[in-house]
Amino acid sequence: MNLQRDRSAWLHGPPLVCQSQPVHPTHCRRLVLLGPPGVGKGTQAAFLSATYGACHLSTGDIFRAARQCASTDQSPALHEAIAHMNEGRLVTDETVLEIIRERTTCLSCRGGFILDGFPRTALQAEALEAHLGYEGNALDAVINYELPVDELIVRISGRRLCPDCKAVYHVTSRPPREEGRCNTCAAALITREDDQPDAVAVRQRAYLESSAPLLDLYAERGMLVHIDAHGLPEDVFARTITALAVWH
Ligand code: AMP
Repeated sequence: MNLQRDRSAWLHGPPLVCQSQPVHPTHCRRLVLLGPPGVGKGTQAAFLSATYGACHLSTGDIFRAARQCASTDQSPALHEAIAHMNEGRLVTDETVLEIIRERTTCLSCRGGFILDGFPRTALQAEALEAHLGYEGNALDAVINYELPVDELIVRISGRRLCPDCKAVYHVTSRPPREEGRCNTCAAALITREDDQPDAVAVRQRAYLESSAPLLDLYAERGMLVHIDAHGLPEDVFARTITALAVWH
């Protein structure tokens, strides 16, 4: 089954509008994925999106899409956000919330959503809660993926990206057929700027600092589902689906 939807309205914001809102969804899912950089949230979000038909909404993808634009097309706020991102620091709440405000139709979608990378701070979580409460659309669950930090560093430091088709490889667990070259377009693979060792350390620290109050907040609401992220992506996904099936 592949129910993936058009994400251009989310990635690029207004004036683009979504062309693929579902008309009669049977069961709409509204999920938030939490977990440190490198834990595999993006991969799990893509699996969940294909299974439930809810859009995969990643704030990191918005910033990466904006980075591809000429710098003259970037607003000063976006320009500053990209600089923060390149150094592995969090983008300010003000800028993130401004970007979300421009895309609230994606949060009101009848198909639901899989949020990946947002909210990242307690303030962002409260803003999301206020918006969803106003719309009468509560979250179903907040999934927290867990993996020890040394394994995260191994996962991130081996990650390679095709600059052309965006395919993701890993030097040991998912190597390309020809070393350093994309299987599909043969482009030379690169390391994401925020996957460089200095930025990785900053990102892990930023995550630890910002996630503690976020986890507390969702634990208080009784919304957290903890998932062990060891092993193959397919195994982690199977654990996620099983946990959600028995979740109230
Ligand atoms: P990700 O792909 O989710 O790891 O995000 C990549 C980078 O984008 C992060 O390291 C931050 O610099 C920035 N970013 C993405 N989402 C947020 C957010 N909700 N709040 C602050 N910064 C964010």
